[in-house]
Amino acid sequence: MLSEKEITEIKSLLNTPKKITIISHRNPDGDAMGSSLGLLHFLKQLNHEVIFISPNEFPDFLAWLPETNKVVIFEREYDKALPILQKSDLIFTLDFNAIHRTGDAMQKILETLSNPMIMIDHHQFPDDYAKYTFSDVSYGSTCQMIYDFINALGYNNLINKEIATCLYTGIVTDSGSFRFPKTTSETHKCVANLIEKGINNSEIHNLLFDNSSYERLQLLGKALQNLRVLPEYKASYISLSQEELNAFDYKKGDTEGIVNYGLSIQGIIVTAIFIENKEEGIIKISFRSQGDFDVNEFARKHFNGGGHINAAGGKSFSSLEETVNQFIAILAEEKK
Ligand code: 5GP
Ligand code: MN
Repeated sequence: MLSEKEITEIKSLLNTPKKITIISHRNPDGDAMGSSLGLLHFLKQLNHEVIFISPNEFPDFLAWLPETNKVVIFEREYDKALPILQKSDLIFTLDFNAIHRTGDAMQKILETLSNPMIMIDHHQFPDDYAKYTFSDVSYGSTCQMIYDFINALGYNNLINKEIATCLYTGIVTDSGSFRFPKTTSETHKCVANLIEKGINNSEIHNLLFDNSSYERLQLLGKALQNLRVLPEYKASYISLSQEELNAFDYKKGDTEGIVNYGLSIQGIIVTAIFIENKEEGIIKISFRSQGDFDVNEFARKHFNGGGHINAAGGKSFSSLEETVNQFIAILAEEKK
């Protein structure tokens, strides 16, 4: 948690109405969207003018969150986003640890700004760009950090159903529905309080996970057919080419969670999914692991990425086939 002195300073900053901008990482997930919108609704209660700018589009499966219609998309609405950022009295940066996680276009602009920033994030190795840094890898989600941040400011009474709905969303998605090891009794106490605030927790699960298109399930079928096991390395992987994505009418968010299937096979401790993106000219990779296998280090070292010990991501500029071969070669090398 931030020090008492920092909390007092932030509280006095928030005492008078300000222009506040919230930003999260590129390709925002449930935690990025939930923490940003949760904080937005909280700061609005304190009479601030608050805008959430996402670097690029958010996935459809999160579009039901309150006020996603007001989210400014930096890469599509550059002319609108630029003056908002420049005129901000305060910028909250959520769910990322380094400015480059906002993508090339937004990074360029953020690096020109000297507006005070507050980082709230749970990834390893936070960069030192913010005036106030609340960074703690023991948290399973940034949403739970926002909850503790609001409480530290003494404003639990301001957490309403809207805020609680946003925060619950990020806690559920980043914890794999309360499965992952960073799910603690504190997480459940937080969630208990969010339920007391009136959220419909069961409905939120439905909105998040029982809202697939037929094509998305067919794409999942294809992904599972493409799943390969490498028993000698206790590893598995899935690949999806652009052509395969197109055949199933791929939309942003459709591949969310598919990577976890590779880890659900008995004895597997590390898995990856390789997704071809022709438009960006990259292979987007997600890694998942169990126990001590550190995919954050693996992604940083070999695939221009990062994340957490058991969940990380990265990218490759080689072809899909080359990238997969590279992955297998690295596993062989690391086994030695
Ligand atoms: P996912 O695989 O669900 O996209 O991401 C898993 C975790 O790794 C998340 O915490 C996410 O922020 C992080 N991550 C995903 N892709 C990248 C990347 O390209 N670079 C870095 N530094 N982190 C990533
Ligand atoms: Mn997160």
